Amino acid sequence: MNARRLISSAILAGALSLGLVALSACAAFDSTDSAGTADASAKKSGGKLAVTASFYPMRYLAERIGGDHVSVTTLTKPGVEPHDLELAPRQAADLGEADVVLYLKGIQPAVDDAIAQSGVKNVVDAASLTAMERHGTEAGAREETRDAERAEATAAGTDPHIWLDPVKFTEVANGVGAALEKADPDHAAAYRRNTGSLVKDLSALDTSYKQGLADTGGRTFITTHAAFGYLAERYGLEQEAITGIDPESEPSPARIRDLGAIAKRDKVTTVFFETLTSDRTARTVADDAGLRTDVLDPLEGITDSSKGDDYLQVMRSNLAALRKALGAK
Ligand SMILES: [Zn+2]
Repeated sequence: MNARRLISSAILAGALSLGLVALSACAAFDSTDSAGTADASAKKSGGKLAVTASFYPMRYLAERIGGDHVSVTTLTKPGVEPHDLELAPRQAADLGEADVVLYLKGIQPAVDDAIAQSGVKNVVDAASLTAMERHGTEAGAREETRDAERAEATAAGTDPHIWLDPVKFTEVANGVGAALEKADPDHAAAYRRNTGSLVKDLSALDTSYKQGLADTGGRTFITTHAAFGYLAERYGLEQEAITGIDPESEPSPARIRDLGAIAKRDKVTTVFFETLTSDRTARTVADDAGLRTDVLDPLEGITDSSKGDDYLQVMRSNLAALRKALGAK
């Protein structure tokens, strides 16, 4: 008798807590989808096109091009290092509510999987909007002592860091503009206008980089993770990264010795570290080789400690840091 009452109250408690879970799940949806209706509009989120961006560079494109006509959700919180991001179950569930998902395939495997399972119709992959390249393999062929871990990281796939090259980012911006026009034809003119304005800004940025890096004392820079391959190629520089494409990998002692030799040979002055990852390794390399340290921001997220409030400002800070490190005239 007692036992039965215990069981039934346990069931009741279970049912109650299930009810609470269901209730809070609804509340979560309501907060992001307040005016959502199932009627004629293709948009799930009231008047605005709901765009989910995977991480900061995608968010920047969505906000600049979407302007007032979109509401942007970002899967990677500010200050979180985006490589190998794990998604919360709710984030994966909420993904299905997006009108448009904008991401860069190959940098965040968990995001790639969640998007593939989301059932969202309008999925825009930035990697499909410009030519992707492998970086590091040519250098690897030259450097016999290159460590295996780094070789693995770069050989596994193409370099995803296309946003750090203003010309490639322009190609992506044009593709994103076209995708938003298609997803929301009522505001096509605005998306076209906003894309034009962004492309103009990116073109001015490209010109600043070209001119700012045309005449320098050295051409080689040392970074923490290999984020600047496209940028280096665009402006005729040599990137030497302490770790590989993925910032979590650890450099071997051999790689650290190599960097010391490269620094001496190429008259490197500075080892760059980043805002979202530890600067410990960069400082070790710099101390060993007697070099300065400075920040070169891969723009994988914007925080209060970023050297600028948005993509353009941080890219300009990066240019200033590169000019200083390379002894630009
Ligand atoms: Zn990266």
